[in-house]
Amino acid sequence: MYLSDIHTHSIASGHGTSCTISDMAKAASRRGLKLLGITDHGPATLAAGTSSYFRSLTYSPRKRFGVELLYGIELNILDTDGKVDLEQELLNKLDYAIASMHDQNFHPGTQKENTTAFLNVMKNPVVKILGHIDNTRYDVDYDAVVKAAGENGVILEINEASLAPYGYRGDTRANCAQILACCRKHLVPIVLSSDSHGAEHIGDFTYAADFVHEAMFPESLILNNQIPKLKMLLSIR
Ligand SMILES: [Zn+2]
Ligand SMILES: [Zn+2]
Repeated sequence: MYLSDIHTHSIASGHGTSCTISDMAKAASRRGLKLLGITDHGPATLAAGTSSYFRSLTYSPRKRFGVELLYGIELNILDTDGKVDLEQELLNKLDYAIASMHDQNFHPGTQKENTTAFLNVMKNPVVKILGHIDNTRYDVDYDAVVKAAGENGVILEINEASLAPYGYRGDTRANCAQILACCRKHLVPIVLSSDSHGAEHIGDFTYAADFVHEAMFPESLILNNQIPKLKMLLSIR
């Protein structure tokens, strides 16, 4: 049983997702979560949140249905310099950012190009998590990225939506195994994240949890139940 899920999407991410933040908090409460992070797609994703949506989050309630809420964003990495799709002034007001590669906004490059983009985006202090770097469409030097994550205080994720049968990033198990091996080597913590679009899979780590347990990944490096440490690494006051 894990108590937090900090990569989830509401109606503001488009893709036909219809849940409001309130619906999501209610679902999280039903699942027994203590902490829920809402991380809608950045403005470069078609029909996703606009700047004004992200600005409104900074005035939103911090607790609903007994669940503590964090308001972040899943940024699109736009180029190998690590440019992202929300202005820095607004980014600084959000709780944290996940930085991810999505086909529409970052075409898979060579291993060197993809790796450079991840290394550069981690220089942005709001980036606290790298999203689904297990995607089979992107060749990545995991050792270099995980080592730099450790140096920059960035968390890696094991993404339920990658590993579940409904996943759409190819068979990511070999990549996830490599990521876990590198995290163990460099002592970099991870979170299990649902990447739920809507309420259906909030707090659902069926495949991600099995995967980390089969890999015998140390529980001490899994942050979902270490909420004070997780919040500290996200720089949440
Ligand atoms: Zn994503
Ligand atoms: Zn996502």
